Amino acid sequence: MTDHTLERRCSDVLARLEALRAQDAPTHGGRVLSYVYDSGLAALDQLAADAARLVQPVNGLDPTVFPSAGVMERELVEFVRGTLHGSGEVFGNVTSGGTESCILAVKAARDFRGLPPGRGSLVVPTTVHAAFHKAARLLGLELVLVPVDPDTAVVDAEAVGAALREDTVLVVVSAPSYPFAALDPVVEVAEITLAHSIPLHVDACIGGLALPWWGDLPPWDFRVPGVTSMSADLHKYGYAPKGVSVLLHRGRDLHRQQYFGLTDWPGYPVVNPTLLGSKSVAALAGAWAISHVLGAAGYSDLVSRARSATAELVSTVSRIEGLRVVGNPVGPLFAVAADLDVAPDRRVDPHRWMAAVGRRGFVLQGQPESTQRDGTTLPRTTHLTITPVTESVLTELAEALIVGADDARGVAAAEAPAALRQLAAAFESGEVTVADVLALPADALSAALVSAGLDPKDSGNGAGGEDSGGSQLDMAAVLAAVEALPRAVTARLLVEFLAGLVEP
Ligand SMILES: *Cc1c(COP(=O)(O)O)cnc(C)c1O
Repeated sequence: MTDHTLERRCSDVLARLEALRAQDAPTHGGRVLSYVYDSGLAALDQLAADAARLVQPVNGLDPTVFPSAGVMERELVEFVRGTLHGSGEVFGNVTSGGTESCILAVKAARDFRGLPPGRGSLVVPTTVHAAFHKAARLLGLELVLVPVDPDTAVVDAEAVGAALREDTVLVVVSAPSYPFAALDPVVEVAEITLAHSIPLHVDACIGGLALPWWGDLPPWDFRVPGVTSMSADLHKYGYAPKGVSVLLHRGRDLHRQQYFGLTDWPGYPVVNPTLLGSKSVAALAGAWAISHVLGAAGYSDLVSRARSATAELVSTVSRIEGLRVVGNPVGPLFAVAADLDVAPDRRVDPHRWMAAVGRRGFVLQGQPESTQRDGTTLPRTTHLTITPVTESVLTELAEALIVGADDARGVAAAEAPAALRQLAAAFESGEVTVADVLALPADALSAALVSAGLDPKDSGNGAGGEDSGGSQLDMAAVLAAVEALPRAVTARLLVEFLAGLVEP
């Protein structure tokens, strides 16, 4: 290829990428209230891009060959450890994100306990992040789900204590939980786990870089004796590009169990603290640079902006007839449910509200209703994550929330697509079982999706769909289907949908 051809092809492919990016939901400006965390400071994005560029070819696999990777990791761990009040007894690593931090926290605790694979249990509130379900499945642990209070969404420490078993390798609580921003009672749970010598992980993936500056809270971090590990995502309120989180452990011996070391194969000695081998340090470099530039004072300032925007929006939603804020959210996020204290024709269905607010240009996140082990239900909700930039669209957003509720008030909840309603009826009559559906080949499931109007080939390839706030997928109908069908079936159908999106 001539230099000229190469140059032209490069610019063509970049033009194509720009066109593709134009179809994405906006990552900046506060219009998407989940997934993205915008500091509102363009200089920080530029800084992260410049830092990423400098380390682009580096392989984080080996900090002895690329010492810059080790130095950045050490300094970022030190910063987060200090922020979470960890002493010199706390050690950790940078991972690729919250999910990896959570999986590795479980792996370290399991191996610290010395149980063989396939043995052991994990005790968690039902509001714990899905990453712990994934960890339990991957590591062959039983997940013991402790119901939370359906009104506050907070777990009761005594209930956690009662769920402990001889084979429990780790207890997890959240600071705060993702679905409802509930701050679990860390001090009370830690007293119990400490008395039983069971490790306790505080999942501060979302709160770790926000709660330290939130104001008066009961202790929830390494100040609490008995907290043995914590996760905090730099790609959330650390404002770093996606791909960076910190996992910390109290004590070298627990920390070392996070590692995988192997010299017994014919290749190079493999020693990794993460699930990945060869890895990018681009997001690490971005997070490291941002943490140096902002420091605690900079984070504190950004948190105070997110905090006042959150307070304002919580108060706006509390005044909307037919909706209510769930529990007492702690941190820059909250969930909204229908207010059952008003007459049915004055209620606002959260999924309808999400769609109506979406039509007004703000993308909210729907969360389906769920039933806990004790038979209580956690309502369907709409989730809002507030970032410092939300301030700049506050008036418009508040208006969209209010007028969106007016659009949805008294309107019956969205229904699942007809074909999936028929499937739900077949489950109810016993004509079909979960096992029947799970045994179907992928082709049959993808045909079922197409007949339900959920063809991955027509979706996700354009933004700004009418009812979806960001994509052409009708999320209210999808969530209704999740609620109507057995959850294992909806999980399998959604796997089919997402797999279909990337099938060549
Ligand atoms: C975001 C989050 C996770 C998972 O993090 P990812 O970075 O999305 O993998 C885990 N726990 C909580 C509380 C979270 O908010």
